[in-house]
Amino acid sequence: MKINICGIPHKVIYCKDEFNTDTHYGQIDYGKAVIKISEDVSKEQQDEALCHEVLHGILSHIGKEELSQDEELVSVLSNAIYQSFMPNLDGEEADQ
Ligand SMILES: [Zn+2]
Repeated sequence: MKINICGIPHKVIYCKDEFNTDTHYGQIDYGKAVIKISEDVSKEQQDEALCHEVLHGILSHIGKEELSQDEELVSVLSNAIYQSFMPNLDGEEADQ
């Protein structure tokens, strides 16, 4: 799977969790343009982690490195973005 972050293709790899952190299920390598996501967590956690790492990538690529290093900001924003694309919890279709 590939994701274009600001037009730069990033390879997404699902692999064993070797990120050495309690708070992240993913990791982005800006130099190699690779995003690693833990294969040991649920699909929802993987998708949220992907949002999180993509957001790190976007902030970094637009030159907002200091914002990218603000983990709290990245976490709340990525969570909000992820939730925005989730189906409604009551199962109803969103308005067309
Ligand atoms: Zn992060």
